[in-house]
Amino acid sequence: MKSIVCIKRVPDTEARIRVARDGAGIDPAGVKYVMNPYDEFALEEAIRLKEAAGEGSVTVLSVGSGETSEILRTALAMGADEAVLLSSTESTDGLGIARALADEIRGREFDLVLCGKQAVDDDDMAVPSMLGELLGLPCVTVVVALAIDGRRAVAHREIEGGHEVVEFDLPAVVGAQKGLNEPRYPSLKGIMAAKKKPLEVKEVRLAEPKLRIASLEEPPGRAEGEIIGEGTEAVPELVRRLRERALI
Ligand SMILES: Cc1cc2nc3c(=O)[nH]c(=O)nc-3n(C[C@H](O)[C@H](O)[C@H](O)COP(=O)(O)OP(=O)(O)OC[C@H]3O[C@@H](n4cnc5c(N)ncnc54)[C@H](O)[C@@H]3O)c2cc1C
Repeated sequence: MKSIVCIKRVPDTEARIRVARDGAGIDPAGVKYVMNPYDEFALEEAIRLKEAAGEGSVTVLSVGSGETSEILRTALAMGADEAVLLSSTESTDGLGIARALADEIRGREFDLVLCGKQAVDDDDMAVPSMLGELLGLPCVTVVVALAIDGRRAVAHREIEGGHEVVEFDLPAVVGAQKGLNEPRYPSLKGIMAAKKKPLEVKEVRLAEPKLRIASLEEPPGRAEGEIIGEGTEAVPELVRRLRERALI
């Protein structure tokens, strides 16, 4: 089983995000960056499929700046075999990212392309479907279970109130949702081994964006809380406010 996993470097969800001076991006100062959490599910699935088949490979791909190498090393430490950084600092949009990934993937032998269902920073949920279209492959999104038998695959997709079961042929593009598996932590042995695994850096030109961020706004601050009393004595006032102000 040969899998290609697309990984995006994103700000840690715990990070305190501030809008940059230009009002159209985030201020990277002091922000910790991590592997997009949904991409961890995609990577874990690729490693498990290879382990279950007893053969194959896991290649991780990312479009990003030089710092993205650090995230790719983590992927290698988790169990990927090789990494390719499509290096650029140019501006682009989801389609530009998908085109850069597709151009690299076309030249490779693979059974499955795995992505996260969405990137937790830009939240477009666009790249996997665009990749499927550009590669002319079936694309199955929001996948919480995946079974492969030869060239046939069955996936469970999370939909409102239940699961949708779909069948498709390989090769295909799959977007991983939380629940697909429990991603492993890199072991010490894995971290040591990752230092010797290939990480290729290729400079790429990204397509001009068809979409630009005009502005970013921080959500309005929350109103300050009010302590209305302590113990059971505060209950009547609390009930009154819930009834009159919150209309409960
Ligand atoms: C070098 C660079 C420059 C950019 N410049 C701009 C800019 O100038 N203006 C702007 O508005 N936005 C910019 N972006 C952000 C870019 O527009 C978004 O990354 C893009 O729209 C995809 O949306 P998303 O990240 O929400 O992806 P989603 O579609 O939500 O991501 C789903 C999945 O696609 C895969 N994926 C997404 N991005 C990447 C990636 N970079 N590498 C590998 N796999 C990926 C992952 O598996 C991810 O889980 C830039 C991004 C990069 C990497």
